[in-house]
Amino acid sequence: MSGTERLYYTDCYLREFEARILKVEQAPKGYRVVLDRTAFYPESGGQPSDRGTLAGCEVVDVVEQNDEIVHLLAQAPSGEMVKGTVDWTRRFEHMQQHTGQHVLSAAFEKVGGYKTVSFHLGAEASTIDLDSDRLGARQIEEAEDLANQVVFENREVRIFFRPATEASQMDLRKPTFREGDVRLVEVSDFDLSACGGTHVSRTGAVGAILARKFERLKGSTRVEFVCGGRALRGAREDFRTLSDAARLFSAAPAKLPELIRKQSDELRAALRAHEKGMERWAELRAAELWQGAPERNGKRIVRAIFPVEEAREAKIIAHEVAKRPSSIALVGVRGKPAALFFAQTPGGSLDMGAILKQTVAKCGGKGGGAKDFAQGGGLDEARLEEALNLAESILGLA
Ligand SMILES: [Zn+2]
Repeated sequence: MSGTERLYYTDCYLREFEARILKVEQAPKGYRVVLDRTAFYPESGGQPSDRGTLAGCEVVDVVEQNDEIVHLLAQAPSGEMVKGTVDWTRRFEHMQQHTGQHVLSAAFEKVGGYKTVSFHLGAEASTIDLDSDRLGARQIEEAEDLANQVVFENREVRIFFRPATEASQMDLRKPTFREGDVRLVEVSDFDLSACGGTHVSRTGAVGAILARKFERLKGSTRVEFVCGGRALRGAREDFRTLSDAARLFSAAPAKLPELIRKQSDELRAALRAHEKGMERWAELRAAELWQGAPERNGKRIVRAIFPVEEAREAKIIAHEVAKRPSSIALVGVRGKPAALFFAQTPGGSLDMGAILKQTVAKCGGKGGGAKDFAQGGGLDEARLEEALNLAESILGLA
């Protein structure tokens, strides 16, 4: 056999092994070590690489190059024979996800003929892409139920080799184009796939298979799922999140959707009521200001400055004033920056847009508008009073 002997091919449960060092090369970040045999899984087929130690040195990555498996180490190992130890927590979790993927993919095929076109095992969740965009929550639950049934039945997962010519005649879930001996992974009476990944020996070890969410892509559907330890942690986290939310409502988690809907309806109604009240207040304030405003050359001039919190009211007040006959509003709003609203009774003789432009040209800021209504911003609030004085003088009504 050429290349590195892959001990995980025949024994996925091997965590410790002895091997001979064939090559140690310096790499940009550490050392590349090739052994005569290894239990370390290199990244391939959607499954991430293993971690662990070689001769006590940390293995930071494992990659496949031609027929060799290259271990990337932070330090150079010493000696001729080394002991390797695979980080079992990480590896076993990958075995659960990968075997779970075989079972779930076969389940999708059985419930609706949906074929898995790709698989990715991520750090938190894994995904499979199915060849159809015509499935939804119901089909996913159906496949999830079937996959978990196969887990409950604790079926055997067998790994064996067959020559490519023979393997290509077998009822594989996906055709293989490999040459030489093909590694086959069989879930008893359920799935047969050509695969080089690491797998648990019985489906029971996969633990629960949970579909988390799905996303429709062009012509395909991406299903995210978690198995075993990840499913347990995910469910626990979900429950904690729901419980935290439920505590805020002093209610049971199951009541949350109803309560959130009710509360958001109430909030929307309250905001509408507040808006109405604010408009009403602005109308009254406009009436009050108009009553007390001086008249010049037959025009009432309302001049006022509002705090920044009343910016919206200020704009409404300017419009309200202009609803009255022969009126002009020169309204400023404090803030950083300050703002201006100029308005006149529609059809009035002045050009508020032009007056605003002249005002900001002299006092800073920018803005403009139409003949009857204009607004400006970007002013220094210290010049607000000066801006209104200037605008009033431009009116030419004194
Ligand atoms: Zn596989």
